[in-house]
Amino acid sequence: MKSFLIKGGIVYDPLNGVEGEVIDIGLRNGVIVDPSSLDPRETIVVDARGMMVVPGGIDVHSHIAGPKVNTGRVMMVEDHYLTNIPGKMGLRSQTGRTVPNVYKIGYGYARLGYTTVVEAASPPLKTRHTHEELDSIPIIDKMTLILMDSNWIALDYISEGDLKGLAGYIAWLLHATKGYGVKIVDPGADLAWLYGKGYGIDLDTQLPEYNLTPREIILMLGEASTLLNLPHPIHVHCNRLGYPGNYSTTTRTLELSSKYSTGNKISMHITHVQFTGYKGSTWATLGSGGEEIARILRRQRNASVDLGQIIFGSVTTMTADAPFEHVLFHISRWKWAFADVEAETASGIVPYRYRRRNYVNTVQWTIGLEVALLTKDPWRTFITTDHPNAGPFTKYPRVIAWLMSRRAREEEMKKVNRRALKKTALPAVDEEFDFNDIIIATRAAPAKLLGLEDFKGHLGIGAQADIAIYNIDPGKVDPSRDWKIVEKALSRAEYVFKDGRIVVRGGRVVEETYGSTLYVKPEIPEDLSKTIVDKVREMFPYYYSIQYSNFIVDLSEIRKPREIPVKTLL
Ligand SMILES: [Zn+2]
Repeated sequence: MKSFLIKGGIVYDPLNGVEGEVIDIGLRNGVIVDPSSLDPRETIVVDARGMMVVPGGIDVHSHIAGPKVNTGRVMMVEDHYLTNIPGKMGLRSQTGRTVPNVYKIGYGYARLGYTTVVEAASPPLKTRHTHEELDSIPIIDKMTLILMDSNWIALDYISEGDLKGLAGYIAWLLHATKGYGVKIVDPGADLAWLYGKGYGIDLDTQLPEYNLTPREIILMLGEASTLLNLPHPIHVHCNRLGYPGNYSTTTRTLELSSKYSTGNKISMHITHVQFTGYKGSTWATLGSGGEEIARILRRQRNASVDLGQIIFGSVTTMTADAPFEHVLFHISRWKWAFADVEAETASGIVPYRYRRRNYVNTVQWTIGLEVALLTKDPWRTFITTDHPNAGPFTKYPRVIAWLMSRRAREEEMKKVNRRALKKTALPAVDEEFDFNDIIIATRAAPAKLLGLEDFKGHLGIGAQADIAIYNIDPGKVDPSRDWKIVEKALSRAEYVFKDGRIVVRGGRVVEETYGSTLYVKPEIPEDLSKTIVDKVREMFPYYYSIQYSNFIVDLSEIRKPREIPVKTLL
């Protein structure tokens, strides 16, 4: 493999304390090496003078693969028919606007300078499908979180108070599905949904059948993940998502993060906080809870959030929060799809449009920005749009412009619903992120949150050679004033290296490679492992329509698996 020398670039590498220094970066055999060790005869020099050089971006929460993503494509067929970009120059055809096809996802992330993406919710039984789609997404590394909060076998362990058993089962399930971490979606709601309930349940609502509350489910899944020493903490979509007044559910959930944490480690990640950040008691009195969430988040050092920032325009929403999608369908009154996944989870899909003049949509737009700007901690507030729910991931540069520039926000505020703005803190917020903050929030911090900072999210020697180079000189551009220049430069990377190969040049994808699928293998004591397998085998005929052996995803089914070993505390 060729080696490269990236010469003269302005480097931002927060994990190594580098903030805007001119440093040369050497790459060989897919990793970063000391530039002085490169053989000049075999090295291609990339002139990066006047450009910003950063690690490849990492998205901690996006919906890019699996049954609900694919159903979203089928539902929005016109979206694909009208947007087809034929394949050429060795690339595949790209279709889809609100739910792009697999190729458009991979190329789109690469063009943005992103090289690692987490699929945020896969039902265990259907994770084989999720992997098949992940395998077809070019360029990026990927991984998937596994839905567990309404899984009957997990709930059996939780209701029995068997923490060790639960930890063992999580280890088994993650390995059986080749998943990466524990996903909790409106905890317990899909269990209740099966019994015709599940609407607006709160942390202490009694769930049917199991005599459990969402609070108990979160605490025990959190404790079990900590016991397993998983690289990524529990990833929580809070209860009462999409209901007025839900911000207090979010702040109370945030407060649970310190109950089972160890040291300074992040023990809970709360996702798309915008959707669970509403004040007020009805849609007519809706207000922003962004300020309150930021206040609690600053105090809860063991928790992080991602924004789920609203981008105005058409979307296709999709979530394992099946009861919420049923509610949204009654608001939007167009299309709705839903599925129940045996004894595990459910999901719903509803197309929707966010409008600037709409009161509710304007309140939603302010919340993500308020949380990020008022928390003032890019290590714990991540930039997402919960793609495709609040907007497409391709709009991240616009979110970045809003975070870096008060003027960019003012421009947008001129176009939105005035009455709604009065119910939010955003017009009075002066805070602006700088380039270093942005690189922390999109590279360094996500790598840490996923437990991958050994080799991802930085540019130190030995790191994976995933690098983005943007045609912008941070020393010469004032993002507060020149936010349009920032947005444009970050929308199309000048160069992207994936595993040491040039995959994007001049904003275009020039080579189609395939990244790895990362999965965890928590090592648990043999006797515990045997007990778990015995119990799962025993329950399988009662809970599932398929056989135990057909459930397990074999490594041979995954294009490029990469195991992340886990030393548990069991
Ligand atoms: Zn999501």
